Amino acid sequence: MFEEFEHLNDAELANFSTMKIGGRANWLIFPKNVQELKKILKICHEKEIKTFILGNGSNVLFDDAGFDGAVICLRHFSYLRSNDNEKFKKNKKREKRLKIKNQQENFENEENQMPSKKQQRNRKIQKFKRGQKCRKNVQKSGFFDAIFPPLKLCNKPIWRVELNNRTRCVEVGAGINLFSLNMQLAKLGLSGLEFCYGIPATLGGFLVMNGGCFGHEICEIVEEVQVLQDGKILWRTRDECDFSYRHSNLQNCVVLGAKLRLLEEKSENIVQNMNFFLEKKRASQPCDLPSLGCVFKAANGVSVGKILDDMGLKGFCIGRAQVSTKHAGFIVNMGGATAKDVTELIKFLEVKLLEAGVKAEREIIVLPSQI
Ligand SMILES: Cc1cc2nc3c(=O)[nH]c(=O)nc-3n(C[C@H](O)[C@H](O)[C@H](O)COP(=O)(O)OP(=O)(O)OC[C@H]3O[C@@H](n4cnc5c(N)ncnc54)[C@H](O)[C@@H]3O)c2cc1C
Repeated sequence: MFEEFEHLNDAELANFSTMKIGGRANWLIFPKNVQELKKILKICHEKEIKTFILGNGSNVLFDDAGFDGAVICLRHFSYLRSNDNEKFKKNKKREKRLKIKNQQENFENEENQMPSKKQQRNRKIQKFKRGQKCRKNVQKSGFFDAIFPPLKLCNKPIWRVELNNRTRCVEVGAGINLFSLNMQLAKLGLSGLEFCYGIPATLGGFLVMNGGCFGHEICEIVEEVQVLQDGKILWRTRDECDFSYRHSNLQNCVVLGAKLRLLEEKSENIVQNMNFFLEKKRASQPCDLPSLGCVFKAANGVSVGKILDDMGLKGFCIGRAQVSTKHAGFIVNMGGATAKDVTELIKFLEVKLLEAGVKAEREIIVLPSQI
């Protein structure tokens, strides 16, 4: 039925979720562009096939019985365009110049000699000092916070990025993953997204969930979101997306891309920021085991992970699903966990939280096999 599109029949969903759990879906389809996407949705509508739009599966728990329908993944929607062509041309020229310079240097190095041990040591010291200086900048003078002062978890986030002569706008596809987007923006010298470096999500999924961390949310840098709704391509302004804490009204449409408002900054500073946030994540989260991030939203601004930790539930298991020993807000797959293990563990935690007077709302999406 979907022969003309890139697709998999009887696709194993566990391979498309960061939890590594899930049965099979009848079809997993990868449209190349909006025209293909529209055609696929039309076929599904006519044949009454259920659809599910997938980002990187970093917030979706698939059912053990899989999904009776078509999962549509927008990974080919991964473009990055600047509305400021001059800036991009300048960057491209700079990149080209740097490439030629590097090639020349490499050539000279190969030609002449390997750096001496003393030179190697000096370079290492310089690199370390540079790193220290940048870390100090980030931590002490709060370089990043100077751009985006941390927000409190609140229902109505405030528009933070003021328009000035350092502001630049880029148009980005929904299927691009945040690792790659961060790397590309760093190369272009555009700052604002570093806080989410290390989150295994696509931009589309992150927009739908209004994802965030360290006091920041993606909506802070959103100018407009492009959506496909009822067969029409529309641009929704930031206000029309109704962003609030881990919420938007984008669930009921397909996000195609977005315009992001960023600030010019030196690439090396951006990379330092990215590493800073990545390290913070690595230090506090179980990045080495399959998970879906935090299972619950913060309750009245308090991290549910912290509450579960205080209740001594770190390490508690049902089957092969475990409350992470590193961060009690995460449930990890210790290898071979089923969706049933995870949902039973979530229900158990919900009961415990209710007993403690906390009404926890789920952040993850549990997708039943039949919808
Ligand atoms: C290790 C780890 C760390 C994490 N840390 C954080 C964190 O710090 N902060 C945070 O907020 N989250 C975090 N998460 C959770 C997760 O990354 C986010 O919820 C993210 O927004 C999900 O993006 P995704 O692309 O994987 O979307 P998916 O999980 O694939 O989908 C999530 C939802 O968005 C919908 N969706 C996805 N793409 C589109 C689209 N293009 N159009 C319409 N609907 C779409 C799906 O239908 C689904 O309802 C973490 C997850 C992991 C595994």
